[in-house]
Amino acid sequence: MQHDAEISTDTQHGLDEFMTKVVHGSETLNASAIPIYQANSIDQTYARHSNPTVAALEAKILHLEGGSTTIAVASGMAAVSHTLFGNLKQGDRLIVHKHIFFGVRVLLEDYFRSFGIDVIAIDMHDLELLSRCLEIPTQAIYFETMSNPHLDVIDVPAVIEVARRFGTLVFVDNTLLTPCIFRPIAHGADVVIHSATKYLGGHGDALGGIVTAKDASVGEKIRKARRILGGVLSPANAYTLERGLKTLPIRMERHCDNAMKVAAFLSGHDKVREVLYPGLRSSPDHNRSVALMRYFGGMISIQFQPEVKRETFAKALRMCRLGYSFGEPGTVVLLQNWTPVVRISAGLERPEDIIGDLSNALAAC
Ligand code: PLP
Repeated sequence: MQHDAEISTDTQHGLDEFMTKVVHGSETLNASAIPIYQANSIDQTYARHSNPTVAALEAKILHLEGGSTTIAVASGMAAVSHTLFGNLKQGDRLIVHKHIFFGVRVLLEDYFRSFGIDVIAIDMHDLELLSRCLEIPTQAIYFETMSNPHLDVIDVPAVIEVARRFGTLVFVDNTLLTPCIFRPIAHGADVVIHSATKYLGGHGDALGGIVTAKDASVGEKIRKARRILGGVLSPANAYTLERGLKTLPIRMERHCDNAMKVAAFLSGHDKVREVLYPGLRSSPDHNRSVALMRYFGGMISIQFQPEVKRETFAKALRMCRLGYSFGEPGTVVLLQNWTPVVRISAGLERPEDIIGDLSNALAAC
């Protein structure tokens, strides 16, 4: 088998410090786990405004991301919508990358456009186009550091440099990479968003969203949006997500190592037409990823050869689970009607077992 890919060791420095920070740091209590404060109000504080368990999760994420404010909310969609509702108003203009998570596309098309916000989708790889678009006053740009499901890797520092020239805010969704691989605020992003439902929690057992703002003024607008729009994270989910977070670095290492092996296997397979994975040297995003990231991520997207029936492949899987989410301990495969792209979230299993299951399913097609 031809291994088209290898992990550059240059990209891995600094993980040790992160591993300690994710376990320790930011605690206000000498306890082995954070308590769950289930109360709707404590003293004079109502839980829609703040809660100590949610605040403990926020303190830990802030410690990892840098920045001035972290706000935890009920889901990744709440994180995106509260950020945008908090910072945009009628008549504003928002530029987004052409490939973004489906739910956010619907949010922009069905809600923000109808509220009078001009939303323009462009190829964010094209910095000259971005610069031309920003000549018309634009309040914010939004993109995913690695897009779902196409796995485009954006040149975040370069985009931020262009945005700075025009005074435009930069909102970044870093769900697929996590702060373990890439920290956008260190590169000057104004807001970093995560669906904590995915890798941060990491066990497929709690929805959550996290927003960290570089400047307090932007962060306070998002905090107010949470208070008024009400997408509050439950204390039980805050506990579950904080518990999952402690093992993020070791999980991410394994997710990424497994993804690399799966991508290498699939890129040599005659029933697979295209493999999208930035760790592959053939990927147009490979060099940029080596320059920016500690690892290449745990997700692989593929397109089959035209003769392969996706449903036959799906039915033939025995271990890999068909499902909607990603970043879970088990490998999850997603097929959706609106795109020919099949997304694989590499789990923590033995890589031979993941590859064996995919290989058998492909043989059945
Ligand atoms: N952002 C990205 C990049 C996602 O992939 C998703 C969900 O898949 C979300 C946001 C929304 O997250 P949630 O499902 O937690 O609302």
